[in-house]
Amino acid sequence: DRRPTEYPVEDEPAAPPVLSRHWAEPGSWTLDNYRRHNGYRGLRAALDMAPDAVIEAVKSAGLRGRGGAGFPVGLKWSFIPQSKGDAPNPDAPPHYLVVNADESEPGTCKDMPLMLASPHALVEGAIIAAYAIRARHAFIYLRGEVVGVLRRLRQAVDEAYAAGYLGHNILGSGIDVDLVVHAGAGAYICGEETALLDSLEGRRGQPRLRPPFPAVAGLYASPTVVNNVESIASVPAILRNGIDWFRAMGTEKSPGFTLYSLSGHVNHPGQYEAPLGITLRQLLDRAGGVREGHHLKFWTPGGSSTPMLTAHHLDVPLDYEGVAEAGSMLGTKALQIFDETTCVVRAVLRWTEFYAHESCGKCTPCREGTYWLVQQLRAIESGDLDADEMSAALEVLSDVTTSIVGKSFCALGDGAGSPIVSALTYFRDEFLAHTRPGSGPDARGRCSFDP
Ligand code: NAD
Ligand code: SF4
Repeated sequence: DRRPTEYPVEDEPAAPPVLSRHWAEPGSWTLDNYRRHNGYRGLRAALDMAPDAVIEAVKSAGLRGRGGAGFPVGLKWSFIPQSKGDAPNPDAPPHYLVVNADESEPGTCKDMPLMLASPHALVEGAIIAAYAIRARHAFIYLRGEVVGVLRRLRQAVDEAYAAGYLGHNILGSGIDVDLVVHAGAGAYICGEETALLDSLEGRRGQPRLRPPFPAVAGLYASPTVVNNVESIASVPAILRNGIDWFRAMGTEKSPGFTLYSLSGHVNHPGQYEAPLGITLRQLLDRAGGVREGHHLKFWTPGGSSTPMLTAHHLDVPLDYEGVAEAGSMLGTKALQIFDETTCVVRAVLRWTEFYAHESCGKCTPCREGTYWLVQQLRAIESGDLDADEMSAALEVLSDVTTSIVGKSFCALGDGAGSPIVSALTYFRDEFLAHTRPGSGPDARGRCSFDP
């Protein structure tokens, strides 16, 4: 009998932390520890329901994709064509579940700690999702560089197979689910879902034209759900505790809990789990504030591809609607905090160099444009331009940005333009001030501009 021993049921309060509640415990990543805290009870609840009822529950809970775009998770699952009735149809085309664990947006660092500290939440969520969409095969596509995370995930998957949660006839349900952890080779573009699928199929990772979306033609041209790590890891708690429990947190349109990652000039950088709709002011309180003697200058709500905001936006609700209203995007909730000592031109240049390096080269606006953006930003940062040259450089910068944003093949191009457009909106004077003598990098290449 491979059925695992039961632990007593634990109460779960309707307030975060949910995902990170047990991360600090010794051996938090082991199956034993996970099961001590209601682990795999979500799967048992799901297996007692019809697959469509699981999809309906996730839909009604209102869980939105945590990879950046906020697309409703249950709705995405419901796009997968299903055979009539609950019995699997042997003639139906295969469906796949793919978990996007290729986290690499600058500033974004929530999925890696989640997989290190609580890999079974992801494994359990993946089994529930595979059951719901009637997929026999599921994959976790992980960044290749994070070898420690790879080992931990593989250990969790092995434990789940040994305990009968994965493989043939899981928990005696008659359902088969296999889960493969695949390590990519470390390319930012492979986080774009269609490039990820190409890479998983063994080809060079480059975006495909959408539509068709993966839900229609994904892995091996079959219907495929691609979901982010945090989205999938949030599912077991919903199945355990119910729709109302989940909806009691967050806002009406952005319900639930989520991980906010604070980095940069804060006293206590790290992961802060909170209901959606919390503000940066409240999160900074929890993170010990901006470093002593300094004040907030600008910040990103969701990694470098989301337009930057300033100290005027401290009370913006950090949910999908609130951040959009403020002119940005919630994205991956990667809050990079910069104080008044940061040169905005330098920061934007560093991000742009990243995008130029990671551009896959498939389309001209992004491949050529990101190169030219770097050239212009380097010239602006150099401190060597006079007023006329600066005004010409800013014109070229705006012109090239306009040629990339909305005209590139995938979201990487838009992401590359975002920091520049927003920095010019809020800090144009600081760009112009780089005509001041001595404002370029020092002999060691460090920024000597005094904002
Ligand atoms: P998107 O809005 O185009 O799509 C979001 C998801 O919904 C996709 O899975 C897509 O397949 C699905 N979808 C959208 N419309 C659909 C339809 N009509 N039918 C079926 N499915 C549909 O966003 P995107 O281009 O996939 O991702 C952009 C986001 O990625 C940005 O918001 C950014 O914040 C984020 N991002 C995250 C990272 C990271 O490291 N996590 C890195 C870069 C970018
Ligand atoms: Fe490749 Fe950039 Fe074009 Fe995306 S926008 S397809 S990353 S060249």
